[in-house]
Amino acid sequence: MDNIRNFSIIAHVDHGKSTLADRILVKSKIVNERKLVPQMLDNMDIERERGITIKARTVRLDINWNGKDYILNLIDTPGHVDFSYEVSRSLAACEGAILLVDATQGIEAQTLAHGLLAIEQDLVLIPVINKVDLPTADVGGTKKEIIDVFGFSEEEIILASAKEGKGIDEIISAVIERIPAPKGNAEEPLSALIFDSHYDSYRGVVAYVRVFEGEIKKGINIKLHSTGKIFEVQEIGYFRIEPEKTDTLRAGEVGYVAANIKNIEDARVGDTIEEDKRPTKRILKGFKPPLSMVFCGLYPINTDEYNLLKDAIMKLKLNDASLVFEPETSAALGFGFRCGFLGMLHMEVTIERIKREFDIDLIITPPSVVFEAVKQNNEIVKIHNPLKMPDPGTIVSLREPYVKVSIFSPAEYIGAIMELCSNKRGNYIDMEYLDVKRVIMRFEMPLSEIILDFFPLLKTKTRGYASLDYEFIGYRESDLVRLDILVNREKVDALSSIVHRSKAQEIGSKIVSSLKRLIPRHMFEIPIQAAVGSKILARENIAAMKKNVLQKCYGGDITRKRKLLEKQKEGKKKMKMLGDVQIPQEVFFEILKNS
Ligand code: GDP
Ligand code: MG
Repeated sequence: MDNIRNFSIIAHVDHGKSTLADRILVKSKIVNERKLVPQMLDNMDIERERGITIKARTVRLDINWNGKDYILNLIDTPGHVDFSYEVSRSLAACEGAILLVDATQGIEAQTLAHGLLAIEQDLVLIPVINKVDLPTADVGGTKKEIIDVFGFSEEEIILASAKEGKGIDEIISAVIERIPAPKGNAEEPLSALIFDSHYDSYRGVVAYVRVFEGEIKKGINIKLHSTGKIFEVQEIGYFRIEPEKTDTLRAGEVGYVAANIKNIEDARVGDTIEEDKRPTKRILKGFKPPLSMVFCGLYPINTDEYNLLKDAIMKLKLNDASLVFEPETSAALGFGFRCGFLGMLHMEVTIERIKREFDIDLIITPPSVVFEAVKQNNEIVKIHNPLKMPDPGTIVSLREPYVKVSIFSPAEYIGAIMELCSNKRGNYIDMEYLDVKRVIMRFEMPLSEIILDFFPLLKTKTRGYASLDYEFIGYRESDLVRLDILVNREKVDALSSIVHRSKAQEIGSKIVSSLKRLIPRHMFEIPIQAAVGSKILARENIAAMKKNVLQKCYGGDITRKRKLLEKQKEGKKKMKMLGDVQIPQEVFFEILKNS
């Protein structure tokens, strides 16, 4: 086991993680030995290309270094706040990490946030400054930042150019020399951490595991600690360029386990695998089932595509335990699904995949958190959809989810962050200096204030330097109202939202003016109103079109006229008819964003 190193690369997006991973891969035996056979070269290129996808997850490399054989397990981490729990699980599978910083950018949000997660977990960090080949590289400044923020000494920092292959040997030496070999005893009862998983049509769920104690063998019965469910191990292996089967995975090793698990929810990130007949005392700490924090409705523009959409969501769900959904109907939009996500990025990525991989035109309703209504008999009802908000007369109170937000930022933006958070109904808790230049500020805030535009606003106000993490702290009573939107005097159910009373006016005006901007003119005037109950809070009119669009071509040639008609038809495909009014598809999603 003393020849194993389990590590990951921590980097802000675009700082060169993939390029560096590629360089390290090239140093390993699989690729190296093949290089000696020229006719294999073409094959190798394909392998390398495919390797990128696999390597983007996790890869096991054999490497001969100074005459000794080593196994390097490079474990990938997802890169965003929605997945910070998953990042911490991936890091928990490692003893060390390369902290990669772009010499032209310096330390950025993810470097800091993930670097701190690694320190919390007692990982050995290897600081590397990348892109030193660029003329704009500020090696001195970046060094100083790394020293100030993380407390490294200058000698520890490695200078590299992943693109030109500079510094790679030094990085590999550091991984081998500085990162400790895993500890653990293969004779103890099995204890393994699931740090990732995917669904495979042949093997079922493939769980990515780090074995801490004991060993996993083909044929044994394993138990998932959080659910108590038992499965027989069908196949185990290592992550190579192609998965490679093996007989055992022992303490210290990283690999995959397939056990005929049909449902991805049965192999959850963070859970401990133990042996059925020989339970472990070493339950890996901090397992959290994923919590759906943000919900929205997804509807096909073309009602014929309902079944396609259903298939698409079910396919994505196979690979994503944290995606939840149920059928829903809307008077305005017809049949669709209410879907729940970990956060906004998770939502955006999922929606993007449905559009791109399944080619379905979607209407997405404004995202919402899950509210709670406390009834007279003290029963608590979850409200996943604003339309389901009970009549105020029938309930005692309404509650909304709160989160504790930690914001990492250079100190110069303290004032701007305070102002932003107080506008978002945040309560300041405290502030701590990481070093002379950087602070962590903590606030309690309603989650509903964070999901829409908080992240982009924070980025803008801190020139991209702040990073954000939040955790759910519970439900609090809140003065909430349902804000309805009327287009041409008809309520559009899919546009209703639940908002804090103090914000209803502001949000109502914002939606009404967005709609005025986004809905095209019609032959008649269209009033647009925002209302709470029967009280109108905001109103705009879309004036009637003065002339028929075809009149512009009066006397013109027929081809131009036809083109114009076709263009109108094109446009129509992406519109939804609400009564007599055509509403562009993106309206639903866009109206709550900053306009
Ligand atoms: P990732 O998002 O961290 O995985 O970053 P990538 O590895 O995809 O790199 C982002 C961009 O930076 C790509 O265009 C790379 O070619 C470029 N890049 C990576 N390393 C270097 C380097 O050492 N020097 C230069 N000049 N460019 C680099
Ligand atoms: Mg990358």
